[in-house]
Amino acid sequence: MRLPYFDYHRPETLDELLKLKESVGSAAVVLAGGTDLVVNLRNRLLSPGVVVSLARLNKLREISVRDDAIIIGATTPLNRVAEHEETARYFPMLRSAVESIGAVSIQHFRGTLGGNVCSLPRCIFYNQSHFWRTGKGQCHRTGGRDCLALPGSSSCQAICSGDTVPVMAALSTQVTVAASGGSRMLPFADLFSGKGESPLNITPQEIVTEFRIPLPWAPLSTSYKRISLRSAVDFPLVNAATAAIVEKGKVETIRVVLSACGPSPIALKELEALIKGNEPSRDMLPIVERTARQAAEGVIIGNAIVSKDYRIKMAGVVAKRSVAEALSL
Ligand SMILES: Cc1cc2nc3c(=O)[nH]c(=O)nc-3n(C[C@H](O)[C@H](O)[C@H](O)COP(=O)(O)OP(=O)(O)OC[C@H]3O[C@@H](n4cnc5c(N)ncnc54)[C@H](O)[C@@H]3O)c2cc1C
Ligand code: SF4
Repeated sequence: MRLPYFDYHRPETLDELLKLKESVGSAAVVLAGGTDLVVNLRNRLLSPGVVVSLARLNKLREISVRDDAIIIGATTPLNRVAEHEETARYFPMLRSAVESIGAVSIQHFRGTLGGNVCSLPRCIFYNQSHFWRTGKGQCHRTGGRDCLALPGSSSCQAICSGDTVPVMAALSTQVTVAASGGSRMLPFADLFSGKGESPLNITPQEIVTEFRIPLPWAPLSTSYKRISLRSAVDFPLVNAATAAIVEKGKVETIRVVLSACGPSPIALKELEALIKGNEPSRDMLPIVERTARQAAEGVIIGNAIVSKDYRIKMAGVVAKRSVAEALSL
C-alpha cells in the first residue's frame, strides 16, 4: 500500500518545529521513528496534510541524570533507553518493557520512547486496511457516530497498547509538553484523556518533549508483566507494572498500574492503600487479582483478537504476577 500524499518537513530546531505546528495545527502529525505512524498512514487511518519529522532534534534524543531524576528525551530510541546504565539500575522494569516491544531490528532501533507512549490506541475494528474497513462501516474514530465493538457507546474504547505506558505511570513520571508559547509539565497519567478518538491531552500545536522519572528515596523493587498471543512482535493483550519500596519488612510505598485495557492506563489506587504498611505476603495476591479484575471489568470491551472475558481474567493474572515479583513473593 502506498503512502498518501502529504507535505514533509524536517525542522532543524525545536523552535522551528513548534512554529510550524502552530501555523499548521491539526493538519500536521509528528513522525518520530515512524514504526506506528507509517503503518497507520498506509492503512489510511490518518490523512494528514503535513508530516513533521523529529529526526533532527538531537536535544530530544538525550538521557541525563540529575540529582533527583532521570530525564529522557522523547525521541530517544528504545534501544538506548534499555541500554542506559542508570536507567536500568534504578528502573529495571523499563528495560523489560522495552525488550518486550516488537522486533529488535525495527522497534528497538527506530522506535522511540515518545512514539511508544503516544502511539494511537488499537482496536481490531480499526487497525485494518482501508479495504477491510469499508465492509464494516464507520465508527467514532473514522467519522461515524457509533462504536462497532460496543454499539451504543458514546466514545471510543480502543486500547492503549504501548508496553512502556504502565511502567512510566508506575514510576510517577512527569511529562513535558511544549508549544511555541512555552512548555508545561504534567503527571504521566494526565497525558491520557480516556477517549480513544483523541487519546492524548495535548493540543495540535504541542508535542511531548521529555519524560522526567524521579529517583526513588530508597531501593525500588519493580516488575513489568504482559500477556500476548506470541512471545515476540506482538502487542500486549493486557499488561501491568509495579513499583514498590519495602523498608524494615514493610511495604512503604507501592504503585500498581494496569494497561492495555482501554484508552488510558489504570492506577490501582485502592489496592495500593490496602497493601501499604503491611508485611509482604502471598495472602495479598488474591486481593491483587480481584482488584485488577474488577478495574478491568469496567473498561475492557470486545475489541481485541481474544475475548473480552479472557482479557479481564488476564488483567488479574498480570497484576498478580507483577506484584508477586516486585515484592519477591
Ligand atoms: C509489527 C509491529 C509490532 C509492534 N509491536 C509492538 C509491541 O509489542 N509493543 C508496543 O508497545 N508497540 C509495538 N509496536 C508499535 C510501535 O512500533 C512502537 O510503539 C514504537 O515504540 C513507536 O515508536 P515510534 O517512534 O516509531 O513512533 P511513531 O510511529 O513515529 O509515532 C507514533 C505516534 O505517536 C505520535 N508521536 C510520536 N512522537 C511524539 C511526540 N514526541 N509528541 C507527540 N506525539 C508523538 C506520532 O504522531 C504517532 O501518532 C509494533 C508495531 C509494529 C508495526
Ligand atoms: S473501540 Fe469502537 S470506536 Fe474505537 S476504534 Fe474500536 S470500533 Fe471504533
